Amino acid sequence: MTTGPAPAPRTPAGGAGLAALITAPDTALIALDYDGTLSPIVSRPADAMPAPGAVEALRALAARVGTCAIITGRPVDALLELTGLANGNGERAGLENLTVLGQYGLQRWDGATGATTSPEPLPGIATVRSQLPEVLRDAPPGVTVEDKTQALVIHVRRAANPDAALGALAPALRRLAEENGLEAAPGKRVLELRPPNHDKGRALRELVEERTARSVLVAGDDLGDLPAFDAVDELRGLGIAGLTVCSDGPEVPAALRERADLVVDGPLGVVTLLNLLAARIG
Ligand SMILES: [Mg+2]
Repeated sequence: MTTGPAPAPRTPAGGAGLAALITAPDTALIALDYDGTLSPIVSRPADAMPAPGAVEALRALAARVGTCAIITGRPVDALLELTGLANGNGERAGLENLTVLGQYGLQRWDGATGATTSPEPLPGIATVRSQLPEVLRDAPPGVTVEDKTQALVIHVRRAANPDAALGALAPALRRLAEENGLEAAPGKRVLELRPPNHDKGRALRELVEERTARSVLVAGDDLGDLPAFDAVDELRGLGIAGLTVCSDGPEVPAALRERADLVVDGPLGVVTLLNLLAARIG
């Protein structure tokens, strides 16, 4: 177990959040993004393995706090496969307090039962899926579509000029989403066409309410994590302590970094933080 100096949030509210997490872990909720937070950003999403020690740190924390959650844009199945969290009943021991919210809360897996719940995709998804080849007909090489069943993600990272490719494609993709009752949500060199009003803020608020959490830690690295940071602000207004953490890196939006109570150095920094928390909780 890592030991070392206590992490030092740069805001008083973040300091109060950290103190609450450590002194009352039974009512604490730790909510972590996956890509860029527990796993380094890679060019192919399927290759995004957990950072060294990330799964062990998650297990250590899940055994010590009321709720530990991964809140991700990925489908639950993909997340479980990458992390190996659901491999066999024996391996699940100690994960009773771990929940995975996939696709921004549309899907859910609970460590206590090992079961996944997932709603039917919106009808607009099938229409968008059928029309995407036409919309992407003139897209440059390297632009790919990830089909998440409940959402469709256009990836431009492997195009020769990713930002130009996304800029050129975005208007038509936004229109396509709007016409079919979906929203177009931007991320790191991706545009995700997904059901509206399902963001990480909503997922977090619902989980806090369900678990009657009294303190919350949220860690993320991208624009999609900002709604969860907003939720922490709202929760503070309700008397629930909060700590927002930015997993920093070259592609992290300034808007997220500036908002965070604590900035750590990428996924390895997050792993160190989780281990420190586990050690402090004891
Ligand atoms: Mg991320």
